[in-house]
Amino acid sequence: MLVLKSRQEVADFVESVKSKKLTLGFVPTMGALHEGHLSLIKRSIEENQYTLCSIFVNPTQFNNATDLEKYPRTEETDMEKLKSIGCDAVYLPRVEDLYPSGVENDPINLNGLDVVMEGAFRPGHFQGMATVVKRFFLQVQPTRAYFGEKDFQQLQIIRQMVKEENLPLEIVGVPIIREKSGLAMSSRNMRLSPEFKEKSLFIYQTLLKAKELSDSQLSPKQIIHKIEQLYINSDLKLEYFTIAEEQTLQLPEKFEENKHYRAFIAAYAGDIRLIDNIQLR
Ligand code: AMP
Repeated sequence: MLVLKSRQEVADFVESVKSKKLTLGFVPTMGALHEGHLSLIKRSIEENQYTLCSIFVNPTQFNNATDLEKYPRTEETDMEKLKSIGCDAVYLPRVEDLYPSGVENDPINLNGLDVVMEGAFRPGHFQGMATVVKRFFLQVQPTRAYFGEKDFQQLQIIRQMVKEENLPLEIVGVPIIREKSGLAMSSRNMRLSPEFKEKSLFIYQTLLKAKELSDSQLSPKQIIHKIEQLYINSDLKLEYFTIAEEQTLQLPEKFEENKHYRAFIAAYAGDIRLIDNIQLR
C-alpha cells in the first residue's frame, strides 16, 4: 500500500493513475477505522481500479476543543486494516497540505441543508466539513467518492456541494454498518463504558419503533412526540429526534407516497454524543 504524506505526493499519484486512464475511488475518513469505514473502502475497491483512503482529523469541523483533542487516533492499526483489505493507497495529510494559507473555511452555498439537525447543534460543522472535502476532491480528483449513510445529512450536503461547485465526480452513499446488537458503528463507540454501550442500544430500538409507527396513520409530528416521550425516563440524554424528507432535510407535515423519509437522532450516552438514523416506511 502506498503511503502518501503530502499534497505533492498525492499529485504525483493522481497523475500516474490519470495517465493510465484508470478509475479512482476515494474514501475520506478521520481514522479509528472500523467495519463501517471498511465497507466504504471495499465498495470502492469493487467499483474502481484504484482506491485511495485519507485519514485526517479536520480541525475546522469540531466546534468543541475537547472533542477534537479526545478524538481517537489509532494510526498503526488503521494502516494494518487498510492493507489487509487491499486498499491501494492512503493519504495522511498535514494541516498545511489542506490549509496552505491558514485554517479557514471556503464560502460554499449549502442551500440551508447545513443549518438543520446536526447543523443546528454544531454551528459551523458542515461548512468546515464541506471545505475540507472540496479541497480533498480538488487534490485527489476521484472518479467516485464514498460516504456512509451513518452521516446522512453529511452525504446530502456533499451532494449539494458537488452540484454547486460543478465537480466532475460521482458521490456514492453506503448503508449503515451496525454491531450485532444494532448499535451503529462509530469511532466514538470505543470511548463508551460497557454500561453505556449497553444503554446505547436504546437508540436503535427507538429508531425501529419510529419506523414501525411510520406505517400507521400517525403524522411525522405525532411520531416525534411519541419517541421523545420514551427518552423522558431513559439513561440517555436526547438532544434531538426528528423526521425529515431525504432531499430537503425538512420536517414534513405528512408522508407522501413518492418521497423518502428518515428519522434522525442525536443523544448523549454519558458525555459521548452519538448519532444514528433510519429510513422510514
Ligand atoms: P468518519 O471517520 O467518522 O469521518 O467517517 C468516515 C466515513 O465513514 C463517513 O462517510 C461516514 O459516514 C462513514 N461511516 C462511519 N461510520 C459508519 C457506519 N457505521 N456505517 C457506514 N459508514 C460509516
